[in-house]
Amino acid sequence: MREVFGYEQFRGPQADIVEHVTAGGDALVLMPTGGGKSLCYQIPAIVRHRGGQGVTVVVSPLIALMHDQVGALHEAGVEAAFLNSTLNASEAAEVEKRMLRGELTLLYAAPERVTTPRFLAQLDSLCERGLLALFAIDEAHCVSQWGHDFRPEYRALAVLHERYPSVPRIALTATADDLTRQDILERLQLQEARRFVSSFDRPNIAYTIVEKTNPTQQLLRFIRTEHAGEAGVVYCQSRKRVEEVAQALVHEGIAALPYHAGLDAGIRQQHQDRFLREEGLVMVATIAFGMGIDKPDVRFVAHLDMPKNIEGYYQETGRAGRDGLPADAWMAYGLQDVVNQRRMIDESPAGEAFKQALRGKLDALLALAEATDCRRVRLLAYFGEASRPCGNCDNCLSPPQVWDGTDAARKLLSTLYRVQQMSGLSFGAGHVMDILRGKPTDKVRQFGHERLSTFGIGAEFTEAQLRGLLRQLIAIGAVAVDAEAFNTLRLTDGSRAVLRGEVPVQLRQAIAQAVPRRRSGDA
Ligand code: ADP
Ligand code: ZN
Repeated sequence: MREVFGYEQFRGPQADIVEHVTAGGDALVLMPTGGGKSLCYQIPAIVRHRGGQGVTVVVSPLIALMHDQVGALHEAGVEAAFLNSTLNASEAAEVEKRMLRGELTLLYAAPERVTTPRFLAQLDSLCERGLLALFAIDEAHCVSQWGHDFRPEYRALAVLHERYPSVPRIALTATADDLTRQDILERLQLQEARRFVSSFDRPNIAYTIVEKTNPTQQLLRFIRTEHAGEAGVVYCQSRKRVEEVAQALVHEGIAALPYHAGLDAGIRQQHQDRFLREEGLVMVATIAFGMGIDKPDVRFVAHLDMPKNIEGYYQETGRAGRDGLPADAWMAYGLQDVVNQRRMIDESPAGEAFKQALRGKLDALLALAEATDCRRVRLLAYFGEASRPCGNCDNCLSPPQVWDGTDAARKLLSTLYRVQQMSGLSFGAGHVMDILRGKPTDKVRQFGHERLSTFGIGAEFTEAQLRGLLRQLIAIGAVAVDAEAFNTLRLTDGSRAVLRGEVPVQLRQAIAQAVPRRRSGDA
């Protein structure tokens, strides 16, 4: 570590991991982004190579990351190379030759290449001569369908254990909840591996989740008041939204670039390079952007649409503040997000058990968004870590007002019930709220819904309150959104308990009037 990398000390569990893997043990490493995962396999690779044990093969899904790492290793004087589609045939042949002679300390390759018959034959040859030192599997959560970034090619990596049982393996990831961890261990046949789990906490990141009203305006205000001139990433769900938001920011004088898979590869590369090199650029992107991007001074990550689950949220927000200085994770979320995410699950061709697992993961994120207590405590608890209120999230800094929504929930559910009974049909959120609030719209009249006994029983609530209520009822499964019938609402088995008052419903006060936030760095 000192001689090659010039670092004084190991960080956290690095020393234990390095020792274990160098000695030939298998390991599963869970460490947050920026924690220093690379050294955990690079040092064992160097030590084993010097001991005559040959080449470490690093499986990595990202070309950009391979380039960065190999570049940094060259600077440190380590023999490293990559094999990927950016090499022409003669360059690739040259790398293969150096690998087969056992000269390389580290070889980086994409999973789909590692499992080709040609590459496996080369590994066989190395292994027979005792020149296969170690396998490092980076971004190991990609092997799990429960993870947020499932890559089927990772599944085939089980062959490494079957074919080379004596070669040690280290799998690394920055985000994996319990389900994903189990899946990694099983899929990669790492059940015997020692597990190294670091704290997932990123204390310098301040978490804020606001209610979505006018997202672009909210984002503008957030950037102007908290992060003028600073680098950040804004995540949107669709390519179209990415383009719109990037344009809106540029229009308002904020230096912003779009990034999504629909852009030409050359443009994408160019935007990524500019983001890394220049200061204060805002990248507006789909989740296609970010993995493996090591920019230390990203001051904020904003979500204009809700991710699929907490792992995705944590991975994306984790790209802020790698330098350890204060940074923000900010998300605007609304009813439509809940509806969209539910619908994507419902409409996916997956089996019912699988959908159920995805719904569970989504619900955990909804619970985080609706939480009235410390966001960090909830996040860390999701990854199996106990902690105390952090003092550096929106709920800690300005505790939200809560109101008891049990009565309102009953009113809403009984309205749904009556409407279904009277008309034999289901209706969407807008119509149901009109009935609750006693608005005699054309549609209300057309169906005679002004004659319902529940017409106007929710008149004391604001529309924002009712939307918050509905979001939470969907989140806890007391109301279902029927994707196949124009997003209409219907009662579920879970409605009954709420109707009976058996499940208390605690709601955040509409956040529209929320107090201005304090920055964590402000004294
Ligand atoms: P990860 O892959 O876990 O996100 P990296 O391996 O890229 O993290 O490391 C993050 C940063 O920390 C890198 O710039 C790396 O050089 C630095 N780093 C890692 N370990 C140490 C250490 N023991 N001492 C000083 N710097 C370190
Ligand atoms: Zn907190």
